[in-house]
This record gives sequence, structure tokens and C-alpha cells, in this order.
Amino acid sequence: MTRLVAPGTTLAALQRQPLLDPVDQRLLVCHALNVSRTALITQADRALDEDEALRLSGLLQRRLDGEPVAYILGRREFYGLDFEVGPTVLIPRPETELLVELAMERLPTQGRMLDMGTGSGAIAVAVAHTRRDANVTALDVSPEALATASRNASAHGASVRFLASDWYSAVGGETFELIVSNPPYIAAGDRHLSEGDLRFEPTSALTDHADGLSALRTIVAGAPAHLVPQGWLLMEHGYDQAEAVRASLAQQGFTEVRSWADLAGIERVSGGRRPPT
Ligand code: GLN
Repeated sequence: MTRLVAPGTTLAALQRQPLLDPVDQRLLVCHALNVSRTALITQADRALDEDEALRLSGLLQRRLDGEPVAYILGRREFYGLDFEVGPTVLIPRPETELLVELAMERLPTQGRMLDMGTGSGAIAVAVAHTRRDANVTALDVSPEALATASRNASAHGASVRFLASDWYSAVGGETFELIVSNPPYIAAGDRHLSEGDLRFEPTSALTDHADGLSALRTIVAGAPAHLVPQGWLLMEHGYDQAEAVRASLAQQGFTEVRSWADLAGIERVSGGRRPPT
């Protein structure tokens, strides 16, 4: 392997001629050398030794080969919290913070919330960490995801109950005040699946291997049986799926059906309420 960074290179030189996006490069330099961002400035003259040059070259090469920075670091920030991530879980996205906000606005004191397809646990842990009164359950079909999510919950002292479950299969007759989900919603064959970070993320977290709406439909169809009267269902979905998701909610008898736009102005979350009985 040709070495990207030679021993003797200074921190200042690394920043003058970045090989990558400067933000990505800074993150990888700090990680490889185990230094803070401040050190990049205060120790600008520090030169890399053999080992450091080798370690940093390896990380930069992985990024140049397309691997997401979050997987190289093994971490991603979400809702102000540091999450462990790896190739068995989707990398939490900033737009999913909208779902967290909407969920917390609707969760009554000591309310029970179910997060379906929790992955890294980002949504469940963010809610449980912020709302100490909440009763949070998170499920996933992937044992690797559940292991990661449960480490994230422990790391943040968030009380979350985890359940190995293929959607509602292991939920039994339990009911919740709120159900949330960021399910796989990309249609099979969508070109985004073969671009950027998505190439490295678990396929099962991204696509339903169908029209993109099948997991969303499964969640909507099972929700009335698992929600208390007037309980809320909120789901993240793709940029062009809001209308279809609202239609599916209306068809199941949900009331107050609507969508919310993310910071980019794209309808990103849709939801509704189980009718009072
Ligand atoms: N938001 C992700 C993306 O489009 C997809 C996540 C998902 O399918 N839930 O990059």
C-alpha cells in the first residue's frame, strides 16, 4: 500500500493540504492520533511518528474507498448524544431528530413509547435520556442491532427495554401511548442504494426490497391493536412518500393525520391518532 501520509508530516501540513473533505479529515486525524480538535491548532508543529503516519494513512484510505466516516470512527452524534455505530446499524441522520421532537411533544408523563426497528437505538435512547419519566421499549429483528442499541442505552444511562421482534410479532397484547419508527423505506433498485454511505449500511435497514412502502404499511396496519385510544403513531419516510403514508393511515381509521417537514422543507414524518373508542 502506498502510504498517504509520510512520517514527519506536521499537523499544520495535514490541514494545509487535506486529502479529503476538511471536516472528515479533521475527525480522522483526531481519531488516529487520539488528540482533541484544539490540539490541531495548539500543537500545529507536532510531527507524526512512523506508527501515527501508518495509522492515519489507513484511515484516510478507508474514507477514500468510500467507507462512511461514522463507521471508521465507530461513532456518530445524534440529538446531542454520542452513539456507537457500526456496519450492522443505520447511521443516525439529523432529519430523524424531527421524529424525536414530535414524539416527545406527544408522549404524556410516564407514557409508554414503542420504537420499531431501533437500529443503533438513536430514537429510543434520545427520548429516554431526555424524558426520564418515559417508559421506552425498543425492538429490532437484528440481534447485532439490539446489542449495539443496548450498549448505547447503558452508555447514556437511558432506561430502555429491548425486545427481539420482527415488527409486532413479539409485542403480544401490549399497548402504548405512542409508537414511532424509522423503518426501511427505500424502494428496491433505487439508485441511492448504490451511492455514498448507503453502500456500506445494512440493506435490511434501508430497503424493504419492494416498493419502499411495505414496512410502513405493516407498521400502520398493526398499530391500532397496540395503541391506547387517542395514542399517536409517527413514522419517518422518504421524500416522496408522505401522501401514500397519509392515505394508509386514513384507511386504517387514524384521525388528525398529517405530515411534518424537516429542516430541508421535505415532508419527512407522517402520523396520526388512534380514534377514541
Ligand atoms: N434516511 C435514509 C436515507 O435516505 C434512509 C433510512 C431509512 O430507510 N429508514 O439515506
